[in-house]
Amino acid sequence: MNNDATLSPHPLPLLGKERGKITSASVRVRIAPSPTGNLHVGTARTAIFNDLFARHHGNNGAFIIRIEDTDTERSKPEFEENILEGLRWLGLNWQEGPDVGGLYGSYRQSERVGEHKQALEQLLASGAAYEDDGAIKLKVEEKNVSFDDAVRGTVTVHTDSFGGDFVIARNIDSPLFHIAVVCDDFAMQITHVIRGEDHLHNTIKHILIQEALGYPRPHYAHLPLLLDEQRKKLSKRSGETSLLAYRDMGILPQAILNYLALLGWNPGDEREYFTQEELAQAFSLERVQKGGAIFSNVKLSAMNKHYLSQLSNEDLLSWAAIHYEKAGIAISEPERLLTTLKTELGRFASYDVGGIPLHEAMSWHASDWKSDYAAVSLTFKKAYSEQTPEIKKSTQAILSELMQDVQEISGDLFTPEALQEFLMGWIDKNQKGRGDVLWPLRVALTGREHSPGPFEVASVIGKSDTLRRLQLAHDSLV
Ligand code: GLU
Repeated sequence: MNNDATLSPHPLPLLGKERGKITSASVRVRIAPSPTGNLHVGTARTAIFNDLFARHHGNNGAFIIRIEDTDTERSKPEFEENILEGLRWLGLNWQEGPDVGGLYGSYRQSERVGEHKQALEQLLASGAAYEDDGAIKLKVEEKNVSFDDAVRGTVTVHTDSFGGDFVIARNIDSPLFHIAVVCDDFAMQITHVIRGEDHLHNTIKHILIQEALGYPRPHYAHLPLLLDEQRKKLSKRSGETSLLAYRDMGILPQAILNYLALLGWNPGDEREYFTQEELAQAFSLERVQKGGAIFSNVKLSAMNKHYLSQLSNEDLLSWAAIHYEKAGIAISEPERLLTTLKTELGRFASYDVGGIPLHEAMSWHASDWKSDYAAVSLTFKKAYSEQTPEIKKSTQAILSELMQDVQEISGDLFTPEALQEFLMGWIDKNQKGRGDVLWPLRVALTGREHSPGPFEVASVIGKSDTLRRLQLAHDSLV
């Protein structure tokens, strides 16, 4: 139906890759979020696909953000800020938008009403639209309307399915969504409309308006919906839907970018981990699937674990520092905290470690750490121990013998390997049960029943601190 040459209503140069610098871009895509709520993960996924499509076209691709704020009652500046903040956090790069400007502004729909009114006047004058019961409607013939969708192939819908004539404005001063979208996409020379499948029926209406106004038709691609694990539309009920809530949980932007890019698109091979550049190279609309894409927190966590393990020391510490700051806790021993984080890597996928906040889970790293565990947890298999005096006594005796022998180890030998060799030898030599020694030792050193092994922990905190904690544990059993 269209080619790029027909999409030039204005003799304006197109704005290309660099913000504020005019180059030509023959592929122009956009997202048009409504600032009526925080950035939804579904909108973020649509934004990622648009961004990748534009990036895939290099200097010929431009990605545009247009804020659809025509619903003045529900639109709020703080939601617009939240949307832009989320998209920036993901590392998306738009060449035109409300924050960076561009030649096709305004990038807020409410500021473009003048153009929408002109289009309404044109439709009324040509008889394609009329006023009815205080609203302006587009006249619609009974017919099939078809368009080619890059994801779904040829889509055909009969105009009866939405009842024929439809409202395009409340009055000449209040154009509504359908006409506003069509006018703005035309004026901004949008070549490809890539948006959620929930807009499939709107597209038919948009095509009818385009035809009545004599506008060219952009290419369309409707993305599959995001579903929860019960295959229901992803909603607040099924879990967190605000993108920045994932940032606040400790999900890394590269993890959620990679994860969302694979929700509804696949590279056609087994690859799972991609940089943004690799995604842009591999991305094509042809590989977008029709069926709904399931958002799985388990898979996102696994991806985050992977990306956490790839972080440099500095980035890992900065990642933790965001959480510490929010929790209002100063990091006084950054090096020890870093070693601790690295020792614990693989045990956490976010700022929540098995139900406890990261700073609590990592609290054992501090040299002034004090026991906050219940003495009962020191005895191995506490379920049957029931804290009988005998068991308490034998645990205490083990700790006391152990302290005497640990005292003799040189501080240089506080490496995980050397400590493991020492402790395993010690258990054999003294004919103790492994759990009877290793369990209380771990709890004595970290206060936790789930933590890295005592060898790793002892090597992080060093000899004197290890002895101090053994003593505290010993004394708590009295
Ligand atoms: N404002 C619409 C939404 O937030 C997007 C419309 C479009 O992409 O054309 O769903």
